[in-house]
Amino acid sequence: MRIFKFGGASVKDPQSVRNVAEIIKHQHGTGPLVVVLSAMGKTTNALELLCAMFMDRNKPAMMEIFDQLKASHLQVAQGLFTDPGHPVFSVLEQSFYKLYYYITEEPGNNYNYEYDRIVSTGEMVSTQILSAYLKEIGLHNYLFNAPKLVITDANFRDARVDWIMSTRNIREKLLPFLTKEDLPPLVITQGFIGGTTQGFTTTLGREGSDFTAAIIAYALDASEVVIWKDVPGLLNADPKILPNTVLLNNISYQEAIELAYYGATVIHPKTLKPLLSKNIPLRVKSFEQPNKEGSLINQNETKDHLVPSFIFKYNQVLVSIFPMDFSFIAEENLSRIFADFARHGVRMNLMQNSAISFSVCFDRDKIKTPALLKDLKKNFHVKHNSNLELITVRHYGKVNIDELVKGREVLMEQKSRTTLQLVVKNETSGPCK
Ligand code: ASP
Ligand code: MG
Repeated sequence: MRIFKFGGASVKDPQSVRNVAEIIKHQHGTGPLVVVLSAMGKTTNALELLCAMFMDRNKPAMMEIFDQLKASHLQVAQGLFTDPGHPVFSVLEQSFYKLYYYITEEPGNNYNYEYDRIVSTGEMVSTQILSAYLKEIGLHNYLFNAPKLVITDANFRDARVDWIMSTRNIREKLLPFLTKEDLPPLVITQGFIGGTTQGFTTTLGREGSDFTAAIIAYALDASEVVIWKDVPGLLNADPKILPNTVLLNNISYQEAIELAYYGATVIHPKTLKPLLSKNIPLRVKSFEQPNKEGSLINQNETKDHLVPSFIFKYNQVLVSIFPMDFSFIAEENLSRIFADFARHGVRMNLMQNSAISFSVCFDRDKIKTPALLKDLKKNFHVKHNSNLELITVRHYGKVNIDELVKGREVLMEQKSRTTLQLVVKNETSGPCK
């Protein structure tokens, strides 16, 4: 049993939907398959905006987005189904009518609740289109709605999965279909959304579709998860920042979790952990070049060190904190500093202490940073620099670091056996405003 996840970019227009259908058709002869799908293209962003307008009672702006979204989905469907009487059109009409009906009512005060009601429409309509199109080309499939499969609490917008109930539910609902022998077992469902036991729709946090694939894989003890993307797989750096990036053929779950921790937008640890716990391999492949191998994430750690990975974080602040009484940095000082960071919800990206100071590098935030600095200054002398870059290099052994920082000033450096981190100044660096 395999789980495929396709992201928004893979179904952004009729041609892309056809491509996804081709991939599914080609692959699904090999056994039962569950396809988890995101909303089309930038639909989730548009729905977020629609929701904000709804809460603001800005009806004209809201309706403009609604009309655009409906038109773009109908356009994709028109590109796929030549018969204007095809049942998919009335299914889509119904889904959009449900949303229309909802947003013409008064908003409640719970933004997150409204958000989940509204934003989940993106995945509902994308799966309706894909499922209908697969049927159209002769691929029988079952469309299951994720709110009935993935059971969560009512923490809207960032709902927590009830693993026991979801596992039982997914097995109970999907296995009878996936084990049928007379039909090609193919199930389609939505990523990113779940539901409470009371029947309220929830969402799992942005980019949550990968996580849905992992939840279903975990529940069904899948043999593999494949995430189909518009990149060839996991790269060792962001190609927009570094030229000559290299594909990571095979890394361990642990390495992928480390990369995510240091800020790589690879695969979210949330997605990796359930897979790791059941040792289910994850492949990241290109939907544009489906025959290429892509990247494999599994238990194998032997190749982790072969390719160095580079992670760049911008807009960093570096503060150096000195006790006012010229005393050494000691535990009481540190616990006060940590308490300030924790209270303001600021995550430390890198820290270092010397006898007389403690230095921390963290992401700059318009609201949190000034508030944190203000609090720190109550008890300490504080020096700070902003607009810095934090460069993390995993498996840095053979990397030419001078070349990497190219004459820029390195303000802080830290090395472990596997990881080198550098806080670097660039032209725009300066004290915090
Ligand atoms: N459609 C959702 C988002 O854009 C979930 C996902 O794509 O993973 O965040
Ligand atoms: Mg997406």
